Amino acid sequence: MPLIIGLTGGIGSGKTSAAKFFAALGASVIDTDEIAHELTQPHGAAISAIWQVFGENFITTEGALDRKKMRSLVFTDSASRQKLEAILHPLILMEAVRRITLTSSPYVIMIVPLLLETDDYREMVQRILVTDCDKQKQVVRTMARSKLGTQEVHAIMAAQITRQKRLQQADDVIVNDSTLAHLQQQVEALHQKYLALSSES
Ligand code: ATP
Repeated sequence: MPLIIGLTGGIGSGKTSAAKFFAALGASVIDTDEIAHELTQPHGAAISAIWQVFGENFITTEGALDRKKMRSLVFTDSASRQKLEAILHPLILMEAVRRITLTSSPYVIMIVPLLLETDDYREMVQRILVTDCDKQKQVVRTMARSKLGTQEVHAIMAAQITRQKRLQQADDVIVNDSTLAHLQQQVEALHQKYLALSSES
Protein backbone atom coordinates (compact mmCIF):
# COMPACT_ATOMS: atom_id res chain seq x y z
CA MET A 1 0.00 0.00 0.00
CA PRO A 2 1.27 3.50 -0.79
CA LEU A 3 1.72 6.14 1.90
CA ILE A 4 -1.48 8.21 1.92
CA ILE A 5 -1.21 11.94 2.50
CA GLY A 6 -4.46 13.81 3.15
CA LEU A 7 -4.22 17.28 1.60
CA THR A 8 -6.59 19.82 3.09
CA GLY A 9 -6.89 23.56 3.64
CA GLY A 10 -9.43 26.35 3.61
CA ILE A 11 -11.19 27.53 0.47
CA GLY A 12 -8.76 29.10 -1.98
CA SER A 13 -5.72 28.23 0.12
CA GLY A 14 -3.95 26.43 -2.73
CA LYS A 15 -4.87 22.72 -2.47
CA THR A 16 -5.42 22.27 -6.21
CA SER A 17 -2.31 24.26 -7.14
CA ALA A 18 -0.17 22.23 -4.71
CA ALA A 19 -1.66 18.96 -6.01
CA LYS A 20 -0.78 19.94 -9.59
CA PHE A 21 2.85 20.41 -8.60
CA PHE A 22 2.85 17.02 -6.83
CA ALA A 23 1.35 15.39 -9.93
CA ALA A 24 4.02 16.99 -12.13
CA LEU A 25 6.62 15.24 -9.97
CA GLY A 26 4.94 11.91 -10.65
CA ALA A 27 2.87 11.56 -7.48
CA SER A 28 -0.55 10.02 -7.74
CA VAL A 29 -3.31 12.52 -6.88
CA ILE A 30 -6.86 11.59 -5.87
CA ASP A 31 -9.29 14.50 -5.68
CA THR A 32 -12.41 13.69 -3.65
CA ASP A 33 -14.26 16.72 -5.07
CA GLU A 34 -13.56 15.44 -8.56
CA ILE A 35 -14.90 12.01 -7.57
CA ALA A 36 -18.05 13.65 -6.11
CA HIS A 37 -18.46 15.50 -9.39
CA GLU A 38 -18.17 12.30 -11.41
CA LEU A 39 -20.67 10.50 -9.17
CA THR A 40 -23.23 13.22 -9.83
CA GLN A 41 -22.73 13.57 -13.58
CA PRO A 42 -25.44 12.26 -15.93
CA HIS A 43 -26.20 8.69 -14.81
CA GLY A 44 -23.38 8.77 -12.25
CA ALA A 45 -23.44 6.20 -9.44
CA ALA A 46 -25.07 8.60 -6.94
CA ILE A 47 -27.91 9.81 -9.18
CA SER A 48 -30.53 7.17 -8.44
CA ALA A 49 -30.10 7.54 -4.65
CA ILE A 50 -30.31 11.35 -4.94
CA TRP A 51 -33.45 10.96 -7.04
CA GLN A 52 -35.04 8.68 -4.43
CA VAL A 53 -34.18 10.90 -1.46
CA PHE A 54 -34.64 14.40 -2.94
CA GLY A 55 -37.00 13.79 -5.85
CA GLU A 56 -36.79 14.45 -9.57
CA ASN A 57 -36.67 18.21 -9.06
CA PHE A 58 -33.02 17.90 -8.17
CA ILE A 59 -32.11 15.99 -11.31
CA THR A 60 -31.56 17.80 -14.62
CA THR A 61 -33.13 16.64 -17.87
CA GLU A 62 -29.72 15.18 -18.79
CA GLY A 63 -29.82 12.97 -15.69
CA ALA A 64 -27.23 14.87 -13.62
CA LEU A 65 -27.49 16.43 -10.19
CA ASP A 66 -28.90 19.97 -10.40
CA ARG A 67 -25.92 21.47 -8.56
CA LYS A 68 -27.30 24.98 -8.27
CA LYS A 69 -30.56 23.82 -6.68
CA MET A 70 -28.82 21.37 -4.37
CA ARG A 71 -26.22 23.95 -3.32
CA SER A 72 -28.88 26.41 -2.26
CA LEU A 73 -30.84 23.70 -0.41
CA VAL A 74 -27.90 22.31 1.59
CA PHE A 75 -26.56 25.76 2.34
CA THR A 76 -29.65 26.59 4.38
CA ASP A 77 -30.83 23.13 5.49
CA SER A 78 -28.35 21.05 7.47
CA ALA A 79 -30.61 17.96 7.54
CA SER A 80 -30.57 17.91 3.74
CA ARG A 81 -26.82 18.42 3.75
CA GLN A 82 -26.45 15.37 5.99
CA LYS A 83 -28.70 13.31 3.74
CA LEU A 84 -26.66 14.24 0.69
CA GLU A 85 -23.41 13.47 2.52
CA ALA A 86 -24.80 10.11 3.62
CA ILE A 87 -25.29 9.24 -0.04
CA LEU A 88 -22.04 10.66 -1.36
CA HIS A 89 -19.44 9.89 1.32
CA PRO A 90 -19.53 6.08 1.16
CA LEU A 91 -19.40 6.20 -2.66
CA ILE A 92 -16.50 8.67 -2.65
CA LEU A 93 -14.62 6.54 -0.12
CA MET A 94 -15.16 3.38 -2.14
CA GLU A 95 -13.91 5.04 -5.31
CA ALA A 96 -10.90 6.58 -3.50
CA VAL A 97 -9.93 3.16 -2.12
CA ARG A 98 -10.31 1.65 -5.59
CA ARG A 99 -7.98 4.28 -7.05
CA ILE A 100 -5.46 3.80 -4.23
CA THR A 101 -5.28 0.07 -4.89
CA LEU A 102 -4.62 0.76 -8.59
CA THR A 103 -1.70 3.14 -8.08
CA SER A 104 1.91 2.13 -8.40
CA SER A 105 3.18 5.41 -6.98
CA PRO A 106 4.98 5.20 -3.58
CA TYR A 107 2.72 7.83 -2.07
CA VAL A 108 -0.70 9.26 -2.86
CA ILE A 109 -1.91 12.82 -2.35
CA MET A 110 -5.60 12.64 -1.50
CA ILE A 111 -7.32 16.04 -1.62
CA VAL A 112 -10.09 16.22 0.97
CA PRO A 113 -11.26 19.82 1.52
CA LEU A 114 -13.21 18.87 4.67
CA LEU A 115 -10.75 16.30 6.00
CA LEU A 116 -10.70 17.85 9.46
CA GLU A 117 -14.43 18.64 9.56
CA THR A 118 -15.50 15.00 9.03
CA ASP A 119 -14.35 11.69 10.48
CA ASP A 120 -14.71 9.66 7.30
CA TYR A 121 -11.23 10.04 5.90
CA ARG A 122 -9.14 10.36 9.04
CA GLU A 123 -8.41 6.67 9.35
CA MET A 124 -7.44 6.41 5.71
CA VAL A 125 -4.64 8.96 5.77
CA GLN A 126 -1.26 8.52 7.38
CA ARG A 127 -0.30 12.18 7.31
CA ILE A 128 -2.15 15.47 7.13
CA LEU A 129 -0.79 18.17 4.83
CA VAL A 130 -2.35 21.62 5.14
CA THR A 131 -2.14 24.48 2.65
CA ASP A 132 -2.29 27.74 4.53
CA CYS A 133 -2.49 31.43 3.70
CA ASP A 134 -3.99 34.46 5.39
CA LYS A 135 -7.73 35.09 5.16
CA GLN A 136 -7.42 38.09 2.90
CA LYS A 137 -5.49 36.11 0.28
CA GLN A 138 -8.03 33.29 0.55
CA VAL A 139 -10.86 35.70 -0.24
CA VAL A 140 -9.06 37.51 -3.07
CA ARG A 141 -7.86 34.29 -4.73
CA THR A 142 -11.24 32.58 -4.43
CA MET A 143 -13.09 35.57 -5.86
CA ALA A 144 -10.63 35.88 -8.74
CA ARG A 145 -11.21 32.23 -9.60
CA SER A 146 -14.95 31.83 -9.03
CA LYS A 147 -18.19 33.78 -9.33
CA LEU A 148 -18.55 33.96 -5.56
CA GLY A 149 -18.89 37.35 -3.86
CA THR A 150 -17.13 38.48 -0.66
CA GLN A 151 -20.10 37.55 1.53
CA GLU A 152 -20.41 34.06 0.07
CA VAL A 153 -16.69 33.40 0.49
CA HIS A 154 -16.83 34.59 4.10
CA ALA A 155 -19.89 32.38 4.74
CA ILE A 156 -18.05 29.32 3.39
CA MET A 157 -15.00 30.17 5.48
CA ALA A 158 -17.18 30.52 8.58
CA ALA A 159 -18.55 27.00 8.01
CA GLN A 160 -15.02 25.57 7.84
CA ILE A 161 -12.76 24.74 10.80
CA THR A 162 -10.63 27.71 11.98
CA ARG A 163 -7.18 28.27 10.56
CA GLN A 164 -5.64 27.72 13.99
CA LYS A 165 -7.38 24.37 14.56
CA ARG A 166 -6.42 23.20 11.10
CA LEU A 167 -2.76 24.07 11.66
CA GLN A 168 -2.76 22.31 15.05
CA GLN A 169 -3.65 19.03 13.37
CA ALA A 170 -1.22 19.31 10.49
CA ASP A 171 1.81 17.06 10.15
CA ASP A 172 3.11 19.25 7.32
CA VAL A 173 2.18 22.77 6.28
CA ILE A 174 2.60 24.54 2.95
CA VAL A 175 2.73 28.28 3.57
CA ASN A 176 1.10 29.66 0.41
CA ASP A 177 1.44 33.37 1.09
CA SER A 178 3.84 34.22 -1.69
CA THR A 179 4.35 33.27 -5.34
CA LEU A 180 3.42 30.03 -7.09
CA ALA A 181 7.17 29.40 -7.47
CA HIS A 182 7.48 29.48 -3.68
CA LEU A 183 4.61 26.99 -3.44
CA GLN A 184 6.35 24.75 -5.96
CA GLN A 185 9.61 24.79 -3.96
CA GLN A 186 7.78 23.62 -0.85
CA VAL A 187 6.05 20.85 -2.83
CA GLU A 188 9.42 19.68 -4.15
CA ALA A 189 10.83 19.46 -0.61
CA LEU A 190 7.75 17.54 0.58
CA HIS A 191 7.98 15.21 -2.42
CA GLN A 192 11.48 14.18 -1.26
CA LYS A 193 10.24 13.78 2.29
CA TYR A 194 7.30 11.59 1.26
CA LEU A 195 9.49 9.43 -0.98
CA ALA A 196 11.82 8.89 1.98
CA LEU A 197 8.93 8.16 4.35
CA SER A 198 7.30 5.75 1.93
CA SER A 199 10.51 3.77 1.51
CA GLU A 200 10.68 3.35 5.31
CA SER A 201 7.15 2.01 5.70
P1 ATP B 1 -10.87 25.58 -3.39
O1 ATP B 1 -10.97 25.28 -1.95
O2 ATP B 1 -11.75 26.69 -3.79
O3 ATP B 1 -10.98 24.38 -4.29
P2 ATP B 1 -7.96 25.52 -3.49
O4 ATP B 1 -7.56 25.41 -2.06
O5 ATP B 1 -7.88 24.28 -4.32
O6 ATP B 1 -9.38 26.19 -3.64
P3 ATP B 1 -6.47 26.79 -5.62
O7 ATP B 1 -7.56 26.50 -6.59
O8 ATP B 1 -5.18 26.04 -5.75
O9 ATP B 1 -7.02 26.64 -4.12
O10 ATP B 1 -6.13 28.34 -5.59
C1 ATP B 1 -7.16 29.32 -5.66
C2 ATP B 1 -6.78 30.35 -6.73
O11 ATP B 1 -5.63 31.06 -6.29
C3 ATP B 1 -6.41 29.72 -8.06
O12 ATP B 1 -6.86 30.56 -9.09
C4 ATP B 1 -4.88 29.67 -8.05
O13 ATP B 1 -4.31 29.76 -9.33
C5 ATP B 1 -4.56 30.91 -7.21
N1 ATP B 1 -3.33 30.73 -6.41
C6 ATP B 1 -3.04 29.73 -5.55
N2 ATP B 1 -1.84 29.90 -4.99
C7 ATP B 1 -1.35 31.06 -5.49
C8 ATP B 1 -0.13 31.81 -5.30
N3 ATP B 1 0.81 31.41 -4.45
N4 ATP B 1 0.02 32.95 -5.99
C9 ATP B 1 -0.95 33.39 -6.83
N5 ATP B 1 -2.12 32.76 -7.08
C10 ATP B 1 -2.32 31.60 -6.40
